[in-house]
Amino acid sequence: MSTEKSGHNMPEVKIDENRCVNCKTCISTCPMGVYVDKGDSVEVGAQEECIACMGCVAACPTNAIEVIE
Ligand code: SF4
Ligand code: SF4
Repeated sequence: MSTEKSGHNMPEVKIDENRCVNCKTCISTCPMGVYVDKGDSVEVGAQEECIACMGCVAACPTNAIEVIE
């Protein structure tokens, strides 16, 4: 329990590279700027900012994203 921040546990955000089609939808969907555009890929850059709104999970066209609360 060392990752608590402002009263909630930090969710775990994962992208399945084998499913991701690099459409960048998660970047434009996330209100917290968790995702980072690496050009030919998208990476989880600021996982500690995730508020587990599940917007990215719903928006990803290939179900590549998993957010574990
Ligand atoms: S929305 Fe899904 S498929 Fe598109 S870049 Fe993000 S993880 Fe990849
Ligand atoms: S669950 Fe919400 S805050 Fe967390 S990475 Fe997805 S869109 Fe961003």
